[in-house]
Amino acid sequence: MTHSENFDTLAIHAGQAFDPTTGAVIPPVHLTTTYVQDGIGGLRGGYEYSRGGNPTRTALETQLAAIEHGESALSFASGLAAEDALLRAVLTPGDHVIIGNDVYGGTHRLIRRIHGAWGIEHSTVDTSDLDAVRAAVRPETKVLWVETPSNPLMKISDVAALVELGHAAGLVVVVDNTFASPALQQPIKLGADVVIHSTTKYLGGHSDVVGGAAVFAPGRAELAEKVQFIQFAAGAVSGPFDAFLTTRGIKTLALRMQRHSSNAQAIAEAVVGHAAVSRVLYPGLPTHPGHDLAARQMSGFGGMISLDLVGGEAAARRFAESMTFFQLAESLGGVESLVNYPSEMTHASVRGTEAEVPVSIVRLSVGIEDVADLTGDVLEALDRL
Ligand SMILES: *Cc1c(COP(=O)(O)O)cnc(C)c1O
Repeated sequence: MTHSENFDTLAIHAGQAFDPTTGAVIPPVHLTTTYVQDGIGGLRGGYEYSRGGNPTRTALETQLAAIEHGESALSFASGLAAEDALLRAVLTPGDHVIIGNDVYGGTHRLIRRIHGAWGIEHSTVDTSDLDAVRAAVRPETKVLWVETPSNPLMKISDVAALVELGHAAGLVVVVDNTFASPALQQPIKLGADVVIHSTTKYLGGHSDVVGGAAVFAPGRAELAEKVQFIQFAAGAVSGPFDAFLTTRGIKTLALRMQRHSSNAQAIAEAVVGHAAVSRVLYPGLPTHPGHDLAARQMSGFGGMISLDLVGGEAAARRFAESMTFFQLAESLGGVESLVNYPSEMTHASVRGTEAEVPVSIVRLSVGIEDVADLTGDVLEALDRL
C-alpha cells in the first residue's frame, strides 16, 4: 500500500517523511532565514529566503492540504492574516462580500474596518437562510464567506447548498472551518473553493501557537498563486517553530475531536432543562434547528457550546467568572476548557453592529479533561445563579 485517503493516516504522514540524512522520524525544524545557492540562482529544493518558503512550513502546508482534501495550502502568522491575504487576492475596490451575521468578530472587523476603508462593501446575512443569502447577491458580489458552526450562536449552514448558490452567481465560496476542524467537516469535498483556518484553535490544539491557513480546492490554482504572491510580498508567514507546533498538534486532532465532542455532548445534555438556562446552543442536541444538517455534514458535533442564560447579562458575567476547570479566557480549541463572555471578550469589536452578540450568552470551549469534572463545574456554576 502506497497511498491513503484516510484522515487519521494523512494527519500523521502527509508532509512528514523522515529525514533522509539521519533517519530522524520527525523532520527537522528548519530554523533558517536563508539558503546557500549552488552558484547564483542554483536553489536546492526551490528555497531562497524564508519569507518565500521554508521546509518546515512546506511540511505543514502539505499536511494541511491533505487533511482538507485541497490541492495546496498556505500557512500564515494568524487566521486573520490568512483571511486578509485571501480577500486582497480576490477583491478590488467596489466589490462586495457576503458574510454570516455571526461570523467571528475579528473577521467582521477586518472586512468592515480594514477592507471597508479600501472600498469593499459587505452585507451580513444569516447564512443558514438560503433565501436571505440569494437576496443579498449583487452584481458586484465576489465572495460568499461561510462559518459553520457559527460563533458563538452555533448556527449550522448548508455548505453544499451555499456552494451551489454561490457558484451559480460566480462567487468564490470560502468556508472558515475553524470550529469543526477537518476531523469533523471537510468543506472542499462539499464544493467550497477555499477553506480558512485559525490553526490557533483545534489544529494547534494546545493553546501555545497562533497561526492560520488557507487551503485551496483542486482547480483553484490560479487563486492559490495570487494568495501566495501576497503572502510572499506582504510577509504574514508563519515561523518554522510555529509551523512545527501546529504540525505536531494536527497529528492528534482526530483523537482530540472525538473527546471534545463526547464531553460537549454530555455537558449539553446535562444542562438542558436547568432553570438558569433558556437555550442550550449545541448542534448535537436533537432539538437544535441545525441538528439533522449537522449530522449529515459533519462526522461529530464538536466541542463548542453556547448557553443563553435566563438571568441575562448579570447571570452571564457571574457564570463566566465563577468556574473552576473552565478558565475565563478568549480563544478556543485547546485541550483545556475555557469559558468566554463573547459580548465583551471575543465579540467586543462587533458591539453596536448588526453582528452584535446577545449579552445573555456565554460560550464554552469544552476541553478533553474528565467529563464528570467538567459537567460538575458547569452545573455548580449554574446552580449558583
Ligand atoms: C480565532 C478565529 C479566527 C481568527 O484567527 P487568529 O488566529 O486569531 O487570527 C478566525 N475565525 C474563527 C472562527 C476563529 O475562531
